[in-house]
Amino acid sequence: MSREDYEVVMGLEVHAELSTKTKIFCSCPTKFGAMPNTQTCPICMAMPGTLPVLNEKVVEYAVKAGLATNCEISRDSKNDRKNYFYPDLPKAYQISQYDKPLCIEGYVEIEKSNGEKKKIRLERIHIEEDAGKLNHDEFGGGSLVDLNRAGVPLIEIVSKPDLRSSEEVEQYLRKLKSILEYIEVSDCKMQEGSLRADVNVSVRKKGDEKLGTRTEMKNMNSFRSITRAIEYEVQRQIDVIEDGGKVEQETLRWDDVSGKTFSMRDKEDAQDYRYFPDPDLVAIKLSEKYIQNIKDNLPELPESRRTRYLEEFKLSEKDANLITSSKYLSDLFEKATTVCGNAKAVNNWIISDISRILNEKEMEPIDIPFTAEQLGELVKLIDKGTISSSIGKKVLTELFENPKNPEEIIKEKGWIQISDEGEIKKVVLKIIEENPQSVADYKGGKDKALGFLVGQAMKETKGKANPQMLNKMFIEELK
Ligand code: ZN
Ligand code: MN
Repeated sequence: MSREDYEVVMGLEVHAELSTKTKIFCSCPTKFGAMPNTQTCPICMAMPGTLPVLNEKVVEYAVKAGLATNCEISRDSKNDRKNYFYPDLPKAYQISQYDKPLCIEGYVEIEKSNGEKKKIRLERIHIEEDAGKLNHDEFGGGSLVDLNRAGVPLIEIVSKPDLRSSEEVEQYLRKLKSILEYIEVSDCKMQEGSLRADVNVSVRKKGDEKLGTRTEMKNMNSFRSITRAIEYEVQRQIDVIEDGGKVEQETLRWDDVSGKTFSMRDKEDAQDYRYFPDPDLVAIKLSEKYIQNIKDNLPELPESRRTRYLEEFKLSEKDANLITSSKYLSDLFEKATTVCGNAKAVNNWIISDISRILNEKEMEPIDIPFTAEQLGELVKLIDKGTISSSIGKKVLTELFENPKNPEEIIKEKGWIQISDEGEIKKVVLKIIEENPQSVADYKGGKDKALGFLVGQAMKETKGKANPQMLNKMFIEELK
């Protein structure tokens, strides 16, 4: 039997760090990248006798995420201890939620490349604390623990086993990421670990009802690795079965360099964690009014912005999809359009040059260094004829390097478009004199020669001459 005879069944557990200012059970800051162990206190370092106090913002953000993913919000929820030992977890238990998560039974709708829509059901979203981080071998030999991340709030979003291909997994993760960005509960920076996924993979023969044994790949944080890891793991499981073996339930580590998965440990079941209610924390009771208030203040979600862009700005479906896939791009688009009033032009800048530069620099939209106002000003300068669009491209490159007001950039660089008739005429006459052959060709009926002459004049003025005026003036002079 071959790969086609098998069905892949996957579910995801996605951890998103919430962008609250302080940790979940103490008032330490959560900012990423600080010196190790400078954002800690007796509570998140698990000193005996300390007591946790739940950060209310964490509940609010988790409820927001639940509502945005069509979940039922529990009116009565609680925190539990999940017991396990690991050097980055000083309490030897993680405060999480077990049988009463904050949000249950939602879904996220994805759209596949063939246009097909599919609902991926969510089992639950619960709140929990992050663990610290071990830095291996950084100081020659041993491992050092950094507890800055210990107690950073997380939501864990658990899907049902509804995913059937690596494409679906990628679409689902992208959709989830964009929703969390829109409701501003997480910055979702995957390279900083703010969004990471545990992927559960199993295979079964097509037509089988019973699920196959699953393996779990932990803490994946790039779309590329996730796709590669799934493809590898699916084939590995099929090979095991085809060879007459049995897939073992275990936790795997994906190694990006060798392109293989390695066994980390036998997969534990819920009972191994000896969950029990945390006696230091009170139950979380939410009123109807509290939930309704969050619902009423949810920001506009990507789906609705997409529809609005098709109608209000007449964007193509493809462009609207690309722009609304990221809240940052979408905000950039709307604000820049307000500044310049030219949605079409802003759209073109974003989907072509800005997207290209982001790709080249391997940057996320959130890292764009210039403001929407500056992009709007750039469009205005082109629309007014102050600069040509080819100079506009140079201004954009400059905005990525050294962002400031485009007007200042073109003044400093001397990039203002020449639209003075006298000056244009001087250049035109000079080029005509220097290129008798092309002039003769043009007069002999070869229209292409005109393009060459305009090109020469552009070269002469280093791209600053107004191209429409050049064209007109050449035609006039060569009559
Ligand atoms: Zn602390
Ligand atoms: Mn978890």
